[in-house]
Amino acid sequence: MAHLLRVLVLGLGVMGSAAAYQLARRGHQVLGIEQFTPAHNRGSSHGKTRAIRQAYFEGSDYVPLVRRSYQLWRELERQTGQELLTITGGLLLGDLERPQLKNSIRSARDYGLAFQILDAADVRRRYPALQPVADEGAFYEREAGVLFAEDAVRALQGAARAHGAELRFTDPVQRWEATTEGGVKVISNGRCWVADRLVITAGAWAGAILQELCLPLQVERNVHFWFNLAVPPEAVGPERLPIFGWDRPERNFYGFPALHDHGLKVAFHHGGGSVRDPSALERAVTPAEVEEIEAWVHRFLPGVAGSLRAHAACMYTNTPDHHFVLGVHPLYPQVAIAAGFSGHGFKFAPVVGEVLADLVSKGETQHPIGAFRPDRFAPTSPQP
Ligand SMILES: Cc1cc2nc3c(=O)[nH]c(=O)nc-3n(C[C@H](O)[C@H](O)[C@H](O)COP(=O)(O)OP(=O)(O)OC[C@H]3O[C@@H](n4cnc5c(N)ncnc54)[C@H](O)[C@@H]3O)c2cc1C
Repeated sequence: MAHLLRVLVLGLGVMGSAAAYQLARRGHQVLGIEQFTPAHNRGSSHGKTRAIRQAYFEGSDYVPLVRRSYQLWRELERQTGQELLTITGGLLLGDLERPQLKNSIRSARDYGLAFQILDAADVRRRYPALQPVADEGAFYEREAGVLFAEDAVRALQGAARAHGAELRFTDPVQRWEATTEGGVKVISNGRCWVADRLVITAGAWAGAILQELCLPLQVERNVHFWFNLAVPPEAVGPERLPIFGWDRPERNFYGFPALHDHGLKVAFHHGGGSVRDPSALERAVTPAEVEEIEAWVHRFLPGVAGSLRAHAACMYTNTPDHHFVLGVHPLYPQVAIAAGFSGHGFKFAPVVGEVLADLVSKGETQHPIGAFRPDRFAPTSPQP
């Protein structure tokens, strides 16, 4: 039988919750510590929905990881009896020579994924809500869909608890250190916890809690917007509107079909302002931000949206190459870290949980994470 460990998980957004679950189900004694409440809206894992897709323009290497995630999301649905993932199909629109479209086609071909190339007229016929300009095309992927964000976070936390994990909320960690015996010590609210291993999944706060690594993380504010519908919900439900992304030279715009009475959700991918202190994220939106998103909605989905219903500011934690930071801490082998998800991590959370559980229990994983090495930016050891 594998050696059972005491593992501390610092940060219970979607990644830490997934790690706590994977570790607890393997029998380890897990304590998760989170500064805010369960499924809170002050980090990166809130906002009702997230896109999931397989034809990965960010790199073909992600395809096996996302496929494993689909399996694990479905397994979690079976265990919790909850709907967490709905397949809607996915459409990426724009000039077919643009990088996102070209790279999606490449990764679909590399992995034999089902896809179609459509022209603007096909798109308008099949999905009348979307109005691409004449020279734009689209890449369609059948297996893309929507994850329900807070439901997924709560389901992971519930499953972790069901396997014996203890999760503490409203409990900020001030600092951690490696002990001379090869374990870790974590100080939160004046209490001192000791454990054999530590998993750090601190989202936008990773740079602060991992200062010794000098990770070049840049936190970016991006806002989700929800509009009331000016058309019947069926007209923009998942049968008539897949998840969509628009790769335009000026900006990257994306949105979701109307699901569960959410209205129409849209946002820009990247291009948001930088955040110096994640604890002081600006959550209000300016009139200029509202005007800009309204202009895009009215241009590309004319007649669909009514008034703005809600918004939610959220944070991307970007690395210079926009690839994740996932691996064993370069200085302390008893610590595993997952950060820098660069605005595209949510869909991978279950497989990231599996990787983190492998790393702390075995020191290695079979999953292909070579491109995510935490030491690819910074020196691996302290200077003499
Ligand atoms: C607007 C937006 C849209 C997105 N769209 C998509 C999408 O469509 N598809 C997709 O796959 N991904 C998407 N993402 C990215 C994805 O949501 C993130 O990569 C993912 O949620 C990151 O999860 P996390 O657990 O690393 O971070 P978080 O959810 O922020 O979790 C980190 C946790 O650590 C806690 N913490 C930090 N420091 C401490 C401390 N000292 N003590 C205690 N607790 C601490 C924080 O409070 C937080 O709860 C999007 C992100 C945003 C913002």
